[in-house]
Amino acid sequence: MKPEFIALAKSPESLPKPSLVEVAFVGRSNVGKSSLINTLVGQKIARSSATPGRTQGLCFFKVSPRLIFVDFPGYGYAKVSKTDRLKWGVLAEDYFTHRLTLRGTVWIYDLRRDPDELDEQMREWLASHGKPFLVALTKIDTLKRSEWAARKNFVLKTLDLSEDGSVLFSSKTKEGEKVLWRKMNEEFS
Ligand code: GDP
Repeated sequence: MKPEFIALAKSPESLPKPSLVEVAFVGRSNVGKSSLINTLVGQKIARSSATPGRTQGLCFFKVSPRLIFVDFPGYGYAKVSKTDRLKWGVLAEDYFTHRLTLRGTVWIYDLRRDPDELDEQMREWLASHGKPFLVALTKIDTLKRSEWAARKNFVLKTLDLSEDGSVLFSSKTKEGEKVLWRKMNEEFS
């Protein structure tokens, strides 16, 4: 099936009516979130956070006859105003608390970065909603293969995340694509 754009919701009132199972994608801006989504669906559908106007709203894409991807705005973007940040929080909180069709979240994390307070907050926030989440450690192609394990262990330990819930990923080489699909199927069913 060709993936289809369904809606861009900028407020809780404008969320599309719940229908199919949903998987949410969250991550800092510029982390490689849209590249990862596009890799998973095999088509350029999600837009980079570098695209003007891509800082607000949840983007809904139907990617199969039974699955919807929900692309969150990137967090941690310095230029986003306080009001927009607040709106992000209200919308994200509403969606995560009330959306019965939400089965799980993929948190995209740049493996090269050291976690900071904002990442810790994201981890707490995801854990607090009690729904499963996976962490996709992306841009692995920029590191030597021999460096992957140590970086991964450091990030997982710092953020108190499990090995099982993590996937090494690259949108450049597509490494990790199959593993991520498999884990999503297992964890979010
Ligand atoms: P978003 O803002 O989180 O949606 O990030 P994008 O997908 O737009 O990616 C931000 C930048 O990182 C772009 O220049 C991408 O080409 C680059 N990028 C994304 N994923 C990868 C990856 O797996 N490997 C490498 N080397 N670069 C990546």
